[in-house]
Amino acid sequence: MKAELEEFRRAACEAVDWIAAYLEDPRRYPVLPRIRPGELIEALPAAGPETGESYQAILRDFERLVVPAVTHWNHPGFLAYFACTGSPPAVIAEMLAAALNTNGIHWLTSPAVVELEQVALGWLRQWLGLPEEFFGEIFDTASVSSLHAIAAAREMADPEARERGARPGLTLYCSEQAHSSIEKGALALGIGRRHVRKIPVDEEFRLRPEALEQALRQDLAAGLRPFCLVATAGTTSTTSVDPLEAAADIAARHGLWLHVDAAYAGAAAILPEKRPLFAGWERADSIVVNAHKWLFTPLDLSAFYTRRPEILRRAFCLTPEYLRTAQDPRAVNLMDYGVPLGRRFRALKLWFVLRRMGRQGVIEALRSHIGWAQELAAWIEADPRFERVAPVPFSVVCFRLRGEDQRNRRLLERVNAGGEFFLSHTELGGRYVLRLAIGNLGTTRQDVRRAWETVQRAADEL
Ligand code: PLP
Repeated sequence: MKAELEEFRRAACEAVDWIAAYLEDPRRYPVLPRIRPGELIEALPAAGPETGESYQAILRDFERLVVPAVTHWNHPGFLAYFACTGSPPAVIAEMLAAALNTNGIHWLTSPAVVELEQVALGWLRQWLGLPEEFFGEIFDTASVSSLHAIAAAREMADPEARERGARPGLTLYCSEQAHSSIEKGALALGIGRRHVRKIPVDEEFRLRPEALEQALRQDLAAGLRPFCLVATAGTTSTTSVDPLEAAADIAARHGLWLHVDAAYAGAAAILPEKRPLFAGWERADSIVVNAHKWLFTPLDLSAFYTRRPEILRRAFCLTPEYLRTAQDPRAVNLMDYGVPLGRRFRALKLWFVLRRMGRQGVIEALRSHIGWAQELAAWIEADPRFERVAPVPFSVVCFRLRGEDQRNRRLLERVNAGGEFFLSHTELGGRYVLRLAIGNLGTTRQDVRRAWETVQRAADEL
């Protein structure tokens, strides 16, 4: 073991040097890999080695074969989907978490995992301006957080479901701009796609409360059981924010569980000037905010908050004898509040990021991203060939070349083929739209300016 650890120390130092150089200058790689499907599989042996290999050989192949197949989400030119950051403090925390390999099944299996999760989510909750009664829990993704919200909603509406199985007719409401994870959650829980109502949106892509009321009336008249409303704060395509006060009023009137999907934009509630956009979310039954989207924490860290943890617990608590522990109300057993049993030490990376950046550091970074998105929107408006197609409340700008979809598709391909920038697309009102999302700590105003100039040049060449 001693000799192995000596080699570990050397290889780990080499790996840290590699990481530091990578984070210093990811621009030396094209943001999108230039490989064809299957190329990495073909380059690697079909079977694992019979005897162990040297760290040098493994690291060499990591650099020579694996890295060229990577899409560099940590690249300043990554402006697709929701750009994000695996920041240095979180990288350190991930290494330490792997070394500890501690598992927060219940309190005794790792008090540090359980308690640091409460502490880090408590700090974040305060920064987001949410009331103290919100209980926090970390899941891997927003998809899984929302699945738990919908399961809790079902438990509230139909407590028998736990024994009998889901009752037909339970119906969930969200806008037509809601993320596909909401519908998937309903699929997984046996609600059925037929019982997911996608409510029309207004001209700014926000759920229309009167259309929601109308759908509820129709469904009630048809004998269905509305049970859950999902409002989105920061939709995936345009980052629109549903009217949260109206959603909370309607949910209260109809006894619905209100879940707010703020996976991307929730982080912006830390900014005092953006907080009004979130007014009403404090009345939600549950909220999801992904630190791995716009809070500088690498995948995976989804912060799930609920003001009704007892309902979540009622839905999921199931303790076999071998997991029983002495009862102490201060020792929270997170396995009782959801599907996963094993719980890795994700809280450590969030705690490192929050401490290293501080609230002011986070505010500064988010403000810069939002400011550059505003500048980009103005540049787009100043070029008559282009149109901006949605408001820009946060750090995502949706735009297109006036005219055919086909030209916009070709434009995006051309920009992404350059290797310097990666933008993505969506569809709005039946039209193909380009999306530029700012979210990486390494991205600068100059990068955004150059990305825009690259788009303009590509348009010239079409
Ligand atoms: N909700 C919204 C609004 C999203 O934009 C996304 C992903 O982009 C998700 C949920 C799903 O996130 P995750 O990949 O963490 O499941």
